[in-house]
Amino acid sequence: MNTLRTILLFLALATTFTVNARSDVRVRIYTDKTFKSVQIVVFSGSYEMIDSSGTTRKAWNKNDTITIKPINDELVVFSSVDTVFMGKFIRLQSNGFLNIFQILQPDPKRLYDDNLLISLRDDGTIWLINEVELEHYVAGVVQAEAGIAKNGEFFKVQAVAVRTFTLRNIEKHAAEGYQLCDQTHCQVYKGRCGNTDIMLATSKTAGEIMIDTSGQPIMAVFHSNSGGQTANSEDVWGKAVYYLRSVNDPYSIGQNSYSWQKSLSRTEWLEYLRKNFEFPINNPIEAKRVTNFSQTSRKAYLVDNISLRRVREDFKLRSTFFNISEQGDQVVFSGKGFGHGVGMSQEGAMNMARQGFIYIDILKFYYLGIEITTIDQIFPTE
Ligand SMILES: [Zn+2]
Repeated sequence: MNTLRTILLFLALATTFTVNARSDVRVRIYTDKTFKSVQIVVFSGSYEMIDSSGTTRKAWNKNDTITIKPINDELVVFSSVDTVFMGKFIRLQSNGFLNIFQILQPDPKRLYDDNLLISLRDDGTIWLINEVELEHYVAGVVQAEAGIAKNGEFFKVQAVAVRTFTLRNIEKHAAEGYQLCDQTHCQVYKGRCGNTDIMLATSKTAGEIMIDTSGQPIMAVFHSNSGGQTANSEDVWGKAVYYLRSVNDPYSIGQNSYSWQKSLSRTEWLEYLRKNFEFPINNPIEAKRVTNFSQTSRKAYLVDNISLRRVREDFKLRSTFFNISEQGDQVVFSGKGFGHGVGMSQEGAMNMARQGFIYIDILKFYYLGIEITTIDQIFPTE
């Protein structure tokens, strides 16, 4: 009995180790800050502190607080018990149960799961990299990007999209020694997920990702609201992708960010077109084309070579899906949707979830012809 238990325990540990070794992601955290000292407290579980040479120097347990600062090109760890010189690199390796640390400095305070890598840069600043189990990371990103939703099925949709995006972009920061940053450049990540509905949705879809016909994780892009029709990828990024096609999206209609308006002086608008595109604004027939404009389905161009995408950027409009009309000396932009419009509309997906669609059908509605598989299927261990 004891032997069997030992074997089972060993198998369980071995399995856990293999899965973890493969599915940890290294995310640089506090990427938007520059700092030369760090304060950390062990919030739960326990940690070993390993130096640059791979030697374990200390063990830290719940409530232990340490401050790390560079002295003469070396990271030095100050605690209530002693001071330890660690070299240029420190690994805080979790080795307890439910290992969570909290960053007290820099601001703001945040909780993180799993391991922390701390490195001293040549300019004297410190980089923090959270080596985190993939599913912990996915839940954290879902909370940061879609936490306000209160629908378990929608959280599943978002978890699969986030996991897919992660796998697709895993090389994004390879040259800098980590995999993803914690900003919109990659995916917003503010530490561990504290929402049990999101944790549940993440674990129910654990390992699931969307793949294209060549078996690669898809570009799982999303936006707030499509305005009733999503956009073709080439109209936004210049590249046609077969699963990022324009679809009629009745589910986004009437949702929070469905419509918007913006007024502009007629003169400012025409001057902008003349300056940037040499548009013949003194010709009344031509001018009419750009002050009275409508699109019942999404267009890519206002007129001629003037892309709606460029107009959206220059005037910080919520979308490219708008009409223009004249009101006195003003032109009024009346638009639909919020965001680039490619891929999944979050508000549409949320509405579908409320109407009872399951997450797989919601994903397949916005990403055409994709398959859902698990990471193990496309990245086998052996
Ligand atoms: Zn990034």
